[in-house]
Amino acid sequence: MNMEANSTQNTNNHAIVCPFHRQGHINPSTKLSLNLALKGVTITFLNFEHVQQEITKASGCQSNNNPFKAVNFGQTPVGDIRYQVVSDGLPVDFDRTGRLMEYLDWYMSGGMYDQLEKAIGKIVLESTPKVNVLIIDTFYPWASKLARKFGLRCASFWTQPAIVFNLYYHVHLLRHYRHFDCLDKRIDPIDYIPGLKSIDPKDLMSFLQDKDPSTKMHKHIFHAFHDVRSVDYVLCNSVQELEHDTISTLQTLIPFYPIGPILLSGPTKTRVPTSLWAESNCSEWLKPKSHGSVLYVSFGSLANFSKNDVMEIAYGLMDSHVDFIWVLRPRTVLDEPNDILPIGFEDEVRGRGIIVPWTDQVTVLSHQATGGFLTHCGWNSVLESIWHEVSMLCFPVFADQITNRKLVVDDWKIGVNLCEGRTIQRAEISAKIKYFMSQKPREVLKENIRETRNLLQSALKADGSSEKYVNKFIEELAK
Ligand code: UDP
Repeated sequence: MNMEANSTQNTNNHAIVCPFHRQGHINPSTKLSLNLALKGVTITFLNFEHVQQEITKASGCQSNNNPFKAVNFGQTPVGDIRYQVVSDGLPVDFDRTGRLMEYLDWYMSGGMYDQLEKAIGKIVLESTPKVNVLIIDTFYPWASKLARKFGLRCASFWTQPAIVFNLYYHVHLLRHYRHFDCLDKRIDPIDYIPGLKSIDPKDLMSFLQDKDPSTKMHKHIFHAFHDVRSVDYVLCNSVQELEHDTISTLQTLIPFYPIGPILLSGPTKTRVPTSLWAESNCSEWLKPKSHGSVLYVSFGSLANFSKNDVMEIAYGLMDSHVDFIWVLRPRTVLDEPNDILPIGFEDEVRGRGIIVPWTDQVTVLSHQATGGFLTHCGWNSVLESIWHEVSMLCFPVFADQITNRKLVVDDWKIGVNLCEGRTIQRAEISAKIKYFMSQKPREVLKENIRETRNLLQSALKADGSSEKYVNKFIEELAK
């Protein structure tokens, strides 16, 4: 958003923002709230108790204090952001990652809905200015029902690229033409999705490639995409010019507002704490490293690996002789969490490689020493990488990451594949890393990434497309 200019408009709009509980959703929801507040929209940000506790533990901030209070944008007042912690109805220490299916049951069966209904009902009753819109993550399958209950407009917040929205939105066509949910699945390119010229079935999101499409996860996604048909707005963290055909087509079907990139970086250095894990500071380590020499390796907040995969990546990094920072999140290997690295690995790479459980990714990407990003292609990571002009070595694991890879490597040519196919072997990894970090391939990628970055930057200017869509959204709310 155009935050440098003081664009605060006085409006009587009041939005309740309800993010999904994982990192890749909390980050853009936080920034969206800041952007809207700067434009005069009153925000009540709902955070789940367990998320609040994780962030508090990670950051050492005072529990339950409004984290937005600490933010200022130089001379620009941040606006009115209120903060409320709500329970999702399960005990705070319930293992929502390890017991994902039970958790999905809880939220499909309405347990979480009831909690949010209570909390939102109270806010609606007691707040001034009156709440007029619920901005809620697209992955909540009862989002529009919740908004209607209180006579609010519903803005669905989609934190992934438009192409992924488009594919889920048209899943009935994939079924009809037998690319999904049938025994004799077709393997030829898919060329009938509106706004999408062609896509290879191997580039569909993992959930649309699964053999069994009747799992709780599938039901949950399909319910959410049934619900999204009746919302008033879809706010998407993408840019019109970046996904032109897909977005233009979606706009003929649904009020689709591309308002990205929504990134937790920008003109301000002061940030609201959002990390679910304590951040290791890598700046000192990066300081003496030469320009563009370090490979940053991270697979985001959700992807899990087998112990064997972690071993192969470790040997690949070791044998590449490239300098690296590797974010190895706690519980990356769920079933065998101990001793996941080769014996002596840390000694072997001392001085040229560090392993951290979590870090401030944006700070690492913006450092002059960072020259490449070995990424799982989570959408926030892709946008952050483009923003800081760091080309990508792609190893998607699941969900939208598979489709995002196609955008990065095949369409925009700002990254290359780590390997062909899903199996990874140390020799291939080390050869690819060595090649990628040598100057030549990155020179070509660099030019493309700069162009893509310019496009994102233009969208946020006063006359840019994303800025116009945000203003349009706010004007619509006021009607
Ligand atoms: N991230 C971070 N530190 C890390 C790894 C990731 O701050 O060590 C942030 C990253 O900047 C991004 C988010 O976590 O904003 C991950 O979102 P993404 O969509 O890339 O992946 P997901 O975690 O949803 O798979």
